[in-house]
Amino acid sequence: MPDLPPTATDLARAVLARETTPQALLNAARARAEAARDLNVLISLNDRADEQAARVQDRLDSGETLPLAGVPIIVKDNINVTGTRTTCGSRILANYVSPYDATVVERLTGAGAVIVGKANMDEFAMGSSTETSAYGPTLNPWDPGRVPGGTSGGSAAAVAANLTPVALGSDTGGSIRQPAAFTGVYGLKPTYGRVSRYGLVAHASSLDQIGPFARSASDLALLTNVIAGHDPRDATSLEVPPAFRAGTPDDLRGLKVGVIRESLSGNTPGVEAVLNATLDALRGAGAIVTEASVPSVEHAIAAYYLISMPEASSNLARYDGMVYGERVPAPDVAHSMTRTREEGFGPEVKRRILLGTYALSSGYYDAYYAKAMRVRRLIAQDFARAFEGVDLLVTPTSPFPAFRRGEKTSDPLAMYAADVDTVAINLAGLPALSVPAGFETVEGVRLPVGIQFIAPALQDERLVTLAGGLEGIGAVRVEPAPGYGG
Ligand code: GLN
Repeated sequence: MPDLPPTATDLARAVLARETTPQALLNAARARAEAARDLNVLISLNDRADEQAARVQDRLDSGETLPLAGVPIIVKDNINVTGTRTTCGSRILANYVSPYDATVVERLTGAGAVIVGKANMDEFAMGSSTETSAYGPTLNPWDPGRVPGGTSGGSAAAVAANLTPVALGSDTGGSIRQPAAFTGVYGLKPTYGRVSRYGLVAHASSLDQIGPFARSASDLALLTNVIAGHDPRDATSLEVPPAFRAGTPDDLRGLKVGVIRESLSGNTPGVEAVLNATLDALRGAGAIVTEASVPSVEHAIAAYYLISMPEASSNLARYDGMVYGERVPAPDVAHSMTRTREEGFGPEVKRRILLGTYALSSGYYDAYYAKAMRVRRLIAQDFARAFEGVDLLVTPTSPFPAFRRGEKTSDPLAMYAADVDTVAINLAGLPALSVPAGFETVEGVRLPVGIQFIAPALQDERLVTLAGGLEGIGAVRVEPAPGYGG
């Protein structure tokens, strides 16, 4: 196995020790992005990155100690970076240049990171494969014939192909965890409210959370300590200061882990094998593994779409060509708006606007939206009950590894079903981490498999502690994707 490329922790240390410079790291990241062009990871580069690198250098020269000193990072294209396009993977925002930084971006650059570019994504974060992007699909670095997962497929591929050691994505129903699983890296979806959504373009506001992709538990801790924490500009932001650290095998002793029974059927043999191997490793390290049940998860996908689509239909009402983005001219305003939306949005986004508006309309609201909200409460209660006896819950992140490009594009329900293990967690607002835990060989190709650990609300730290412990006992399998080593 080739050497692993350096982590963000390694790079910051090297910059602080004056062994390299932020500019040198930026140049190297750009060169790797250029070499990996075929993967279609980035929608745009950050023209101000050189300025940012120079500013970090000045701050270091004046004696500041920055936790992310010179670390190059890629962020999903629904997160605003001043002076850079925020397309959300949509034609309708093709030329929208953000006048401000998202809170997470402000915190990253404040900590010394340099934003290299903006990652490809499913249009408005709707999908599970990064194939609905108006800028073409991102390819999986493990097999270019397969999807990297979605909707943060660009961010996941960026880390898997080592364009940068870390990246940010967003997760409404699985969009950090599933692409992390498909590309063999970590992906953390924090508790709703722990990371500010200010400057994140809304998909479904009650479900959206920003989170990190990384190749090591230390990097997860490093990055999440920077981006999490209270922000007065996000009304749903919680006043819980982050205290993340990568744990050790000692942290696994006596840990109570419950396997969610409802997630045990329908998995591929490889996914089942990786789950069992992970549970065996946990037992070997002194953890207590039991079965748990969250019966209402069987309704999670239906409830998720009946909640996320109405929220999306409201959030997307603002894109009419009048204030943001592209405008298709017409003799009068109403026709201009109609044509702008007709030409600017892709088919999946249109489907969701129509279904979402329908579910909210008078006469259907109670039957659909209000009922889904009741299911949401039930799911949250079931999780709370399941956590009464255990510290963490566990499921596969996805029932199968990365699927082939085009395999599900003509069947929206099959695409929605890909999120079977992840959406319930967003409905309950809980934190969850996809851990790269092994591989399954499919048609002769070795593909990564992710295992999802879920913590009680606000106990996000437990997940990163666990990740460090799993690394310590050799239960984490991070490898460079073939051809993208250190
Ligand atoms: N696949 C889910 C959807 O299409 C989740 C997307 C996401 O988490 N942004 O809505």
